[in-house]
Amino acid sequence: MSRFWSPFVKDLVPYVPGEQPKLARLVKLNTNENPYGPSPRALEAMRAELGDNLRLYPDPNSDRLKQAVAEYYSVTPAQVFVGNGSDEVLAHIFHGLFQHARGPLLFPDISYSFYPVYCGLYGIAHEAVALDAQFQIQVADYSKSNAGIIFPNPNAPTGCLLPLQAVEQLLQANRDSVVVVDEAYIDFGGETAISLVDRYDNLLVTQTLSKSRSLAGLRVGLAVGHPELIEALERIKNSFNSYPLDRMAIVGAAAAFEDRDYFDETCRKVIESREVLVEALVARGFEVLPSAANFIFARHPQQDAAAIAARLREQGVIVRHFKQARIAQFLRITIGTPEMNQALLDALN
Ligand SMILES: *Cc1c(COP(=O)(O)O)cnc(C)c1O
Repeated sequence: MSRFWSPFVKDLVPYVPGEQPKLARLVKLNTNENPYGPSPRALEAMRAELGDNLRLYPDPNSDRLKQAVAEYYSVTPAQVFVGNGSDEVLAHIFHGLFQHARGPLLFPDISYSFYPVYCGLYGIAHEAVALDAQFQIQVADYSKSNAGIIFPNPNAPTGCLLPLQAVEQLLQANRDSVVVVDEAYIDFGGETAISLVDRYDNLLVTQTLSKSRSLAGLRVGLAVGHPELIEALERIKNSFNSYPLDRMAIVGAAAAFEDRDYFDETCRKVIESREVLVEALVARGFEVLPSAANFIFARHPQQDAAAIAARLREQGVIVRHFKQARIAQFLRITIGTPEMNQALLDALN
């Protein structure tokens, strides 16, 4: 702390991302990155952009990317917002739609740990709604007074999916508050709620290119919703940073959306590997929550989770462990290639 800090800075509780180890030889199953590389078409588009053009600012509106997303989801570009990672998109949502709202923002007690951090940054009252005993979201629990609702679907770090029908029930019960569905992992087994944005003007769906499109290093995220909600995000963005996406990010992300075959193929491989890994872990006595994501959430009835994580690390395999009381006996394990998953199993043996 220094005497030069603005007073609120000392009260911030920043997010702690999963480890990005400097040692390259570790089998990295801790931050839900895709084990397969980005689309070759995305890489090609970025290579073509790398040149004299970089002296010029990028398109502040990222029109090429908005167009690609709009085409992919059959919406209009005015329904699409893009940002520097979905974390930035989420920050603008908290800032522009939840700050100064009357009543608490609701989110599950077990969910993305960045949500309470943004609440701290923007001074937003919030209330954690407990998942049920099976770690599922119960829609009825969200029929209480609130100033907004946000949840990941599939949920993180559990991997559990709320079916689209239940998402719609939640929207119907909350017509007067903004409902944000954070679909960071939707492509690994769920059905997107983007199909509902034309019918619910209070719905915002966020997605990221960091997981299913293998571009965590590029930092691109997006939101789809009613043009008036999108307009609020544009106003925030243009009061903060006019050029959040650089030239490489705009063309690379657009090409990744256009390369449907590569996307379908890599998602299919991750899903297949997930089913194989779940079976192998269950055979080793683990209890695994049903996952629709590119990770699984597992606990062993006899072995301490933190101890397993520490011993795996000694053997060069890193997984994520959270200290939060209700989930302290779980490990979150990212789905790797078949070889990476086998390395995990060998280390467990
Ligand atoms: C990974 C993740 C994000 C952030 O994605 P970025 O686009 O990399 O910022 C957002 N929400 C959830 C639930 C995530 O797991």
